[in-house]
Amino acid sequence: MISDMKTSQIARKVEQLKRQLVQLGPMHPGSLSEQYNVCGKAGCRCKDPKDPQKHGPYYQLSFTWRGKSRTRFVRAERLADVRQKVTNYRRFRKLTDEWVDLVVELEQLEREQVQ
Ligand SMILES: [Zn+2]
Repeated sequence: MISDMKTSQIARKVEQLKRQLVQLGPMHPGSLSEQYNVCGKAGCRCKDPKDPQKHGPYYQLSFTWRGKSRTRFVRAERLADVRQKVTNYRRFRKLTDEWVDLVVELEQLEREQVQ
């Protein structure tokens, strides 16, 4: 039966996704951005009328989780680390979305089989 073939194909894809998920390293939701600031010191280069040079870059990680939005500053020496975590989280979401796609498809197939 065609739907049996399709069902085992989906099961194989799910197993593949699970393997990829357990291999994911540390993760964190959000996105990184660069910021340049102006300080309060009089006559500072950041306020030069001709060629202002703002302070920075400063990096921040912004994310919303469980309805709460937060922003955290990230020190330059931690940037690569945090960037990797953000990348891993995106991959985690992509993989779980694919998994749910398959789950929905599978349910549909099983429903058709019963009829
Ligand atoms: Zn300044």
